[in-house]
Amino acid sequence: MTNKIFKGKKLKKASIVLLTLGIFVFIACKSTKEKETDRTHQGVTTVITNVRIFDGYGMSGLTAVVIEDGLISEKTTGAIVIDGKGGFLMPGLIDAHAHPGTVKDLELSAERGVSSTFALSAPNEIKNQPGLTRIWSSHAYALGNVEDAQAFVANEAANGADYVKVIIEDPARMAPRTISREVLEGIVAAARRSGLRVAAHAVTVPTFRMAVQAGVDIIIHVPLEAVVPQSIVDNMARQGTAVVPTLVMMEAFANSPVHGYRSEDYKNAEDNVRMFLAAGVPVLAGSDSSTTPYVPKIHHGTGLHRELRLLVHAGMTPLEALKAATSVPAEIFGFTSVGALRPGRRADLILIDGHPDKDIEDTLNIKKVWFGGKEYN
Ligand SMILES: [Zn+2]
Repeated sequence: MTNKIFKGKKLKKASIVLLTLGIFVFIACKSTKEKETDRTHQGVTTVITNVRIFDGYGMSGLTAVVIEDGLISEKTTGAIVIDGKGGFLMPGLIDAHAHPGTVKDLELSAERGVSSTFALSAPNEIKNQPGLTRIWSSHAYALGNVEDAQAFVANEAANGADYVKVIIEDPARMAPRTISREVLEGIVAAARRSGLRVAAHAVTVPTFRMAVQAGVDIIIHVPLEAVVPQSIVDNMARQGTAVVPTLVMMEAFANSPVHGYRSEDYKNAEDNVRMFLAAGVPVLAGSDSSTTPYVPKIHHGTGLHRELRLLVHAGMTPLEALKAATSVPAEIFGFTSVGALRPGRRADLILIDGHPDKDIEDTLNIKKVWFGGKEYN
């Protein structure tokens, strides 16, 4: 069924392209050299051959991928041939939680193959940077400041938010400032009506419980102070609530005494991930990279690779970790134009020397990166 839809769209697109080209040739017989180049470039296909392909879901068994107009094509041959020399080709990585604040942050991400980053209230001036890591972001975020859930979500939607972000702090500790249960439920309901997913920051067991009971789609972080009770984990599995544990940040917190944790607390974070995996709760890779003062500094780009290693240490297979940074976050957040090497998706690609599907350490052996079909260098 998906294929049929795809073909229909493709045909429509192809006829539009043909029509546009026809009109162009008709009215611009004396085209300039520049335009001539543009025209010949249009529709030029690039094929990357001689590769082992992880398509976001698994090893596809294919040995070539064709890029056309910045997207993965269903064609099998291309005019420009790039020899992948037996390398490992996979979709660009998705960082399901990060805080890019500058173009430099995006460049660091791009160099490490991170093609999408899910941020919150990212500065407008760094969004939509051509040829760089793409930012998917909420417009603002809800703390205890929100009283009218409907108005908050309407404002997010009007400002082009890709999803809704809520910060739930421990009601016992931050009672007057934290978001109320009623407002949280109102936000979830309003977001659902607007077709937006809700991601909630929660770092303690009580806030996890509140997030799950309110029915948020994604929980960001994982408690360090204790393991989440099995009943909450079971509810998450039943509801399909996903988690972005940001182990790399939890590890950094556990190892920085100023935040009141002990290094052995990290075991709770890992045990939580083990419980989620055992229960079938979707676990997404996110680094929480930021340069925010007062929280441990996690580097953009390399932070996500560290997260992949920690997820494997917590019980994922390397292949599951790769899925947790590609197809799984794309589907959970509903951003299905990225995250997989399937026809019609954005041609965000990483060529790696090695076997990251077997040894996660290999993810940093990056040879080439493409964003929207354009090589990044
Ligand atoms: Zn964060």
